[in-house]
This record gives sequence, C-alpha cells and structure tokens, in this order.
Amino acid sequence: MARYTDSVCKQCRREGMKLFLKGSRCLSPKCAMEKRAFAPGDHGRQAQFRRQVSDYGQQLREKQRLRRIYGVLEQQFRRYYELAERMRGQTGANLIVILETRLDNVVYRLGLAESRAQARQLVSHGHIDLNGRRTDAPSALVSPGDVVAVRERSRGNAYFREIREVLEHQTVPAWLSLKAEEMSAVVNALPARESIDIPIDEQLVVEYYSR
Ligand code: SF4
Repeated sequence: MARYTDSVCKQCRREGMKLFLKGSRCLSPKCAMEKRAFAPGDHGRQAQFRRQVSDYGQQLREKQRLRRIYGVLEQQFRRYYELAERMRGQTGANLIVILETRLDNVVYRLGLAESRAQARQLVSHGHIDLNGRRTDAPSALVSPGDVVAVRERSRGNAYFREIREVLEHQTVPAWLSLKAEEMSAVVNALPARESIDIPIDEQLVVEYYSR
C-alpha cells in the first residue's frame, strides 16, 4: 500500500494552514506551524510574500489541502472525485461525504485514534471489525446501518484499555452512535456536508478537476 513518508508537518507548512495531522501535538507549542509558518524549502519564506496566486494555484492548493487532511494519495483521490461526479447532488459535497465515510476517518471520529494516520494504522493492523468481520482496509467506505467496533481480542490490550476511559467522554458526530462500553458504533446515516467541520471550499476542488 503506497503511502506518504515525508514529514507530515511539511504538508501543513506547504498549505499554509494547520491540517491537524498529528493529534495532540498539533495543539501544542511544538506544532511546526507555530514556529515556521512558511512553506518548506529554500524559497519558502519568500513565497509567503508573493501576493498574486492564480485561479489555478488556488484550486490546486484547495485540492491538496482536502487530500492531505484525509491522507489520501492522488490516484485514489481522483477515483473518489469520479465517484462523487456519478452520484446525485453536488460533486464537491459528495466528495467530502465519501472521504468522511472512509473507515479510518470513522475510527478517528469515534476517538479511537488521535489522528487519521493513527486510525489508518489501527485498521491496517487488524484491530477493527466492520459488521463483525475483521477488515484491514482503511479505505473501506461505511454505509448507514454498518457497525464499526474494536475487535474483541484487541480490546484487552493496553492501548484500548486506556482509550476506553477516553471514549466515555467522547463527543461524536450525530451521524454516528457510539457505545463506549462496547467500543463499537453504528453508522446512523450518511453525514451532511454542513455537519463536516472541514475548512475547505470544495467548489475550488471541483473547478480544479473540471479544467
Ligand atoms: Fe500540522 Fe499538526 Fe504538524 Fe502542526 S503539529 S504542523 S498542525 S501536523
């Protein structure tokens, strides 16, 4: 499975915004955006003073931000876009709903992981069941009625024992119902775009792919 291996903080610096890719570190003074809020590379500091960004540049940046927030590589992201185009409704909103229903994102939203990257690892290491079956595909898309749960034999390990207490106080989006004591959740419905707290103008992403 291909994955991004460079420093993830560079992605935030490139995009000029916090993408919250590292869990609690993102909220601490150690966050790279607190110290070096300019693009990486030799000319990164000068780039922030360039005023004019073309329409294409804005569309590209917005697309990259969305892709990086969910930790998806370009090829798969484009496949999601094509799927979103074939669905009813607005393509941009559909795209964000698809990304939001990825299994790794659901695990993250439930509070089982600090970041989507960590959630991806929990899924690919086989700690998560989808509808009672072990799945190691972070890209699996959930549907209404699906049940996502920590695998029974994983619940006793130190990591999940600690997480259980966190889950008692976890607030989850309305489209998910969490049963903290069982370390499981039901997908009530597909999320509405308005309920997804992603600071992205998806119309720019649509314009990027419509060129
Ligand atoms: Fe981005 Fe988090 Fe790194 Fe800060 S700590 S630069 S928000 S990934």
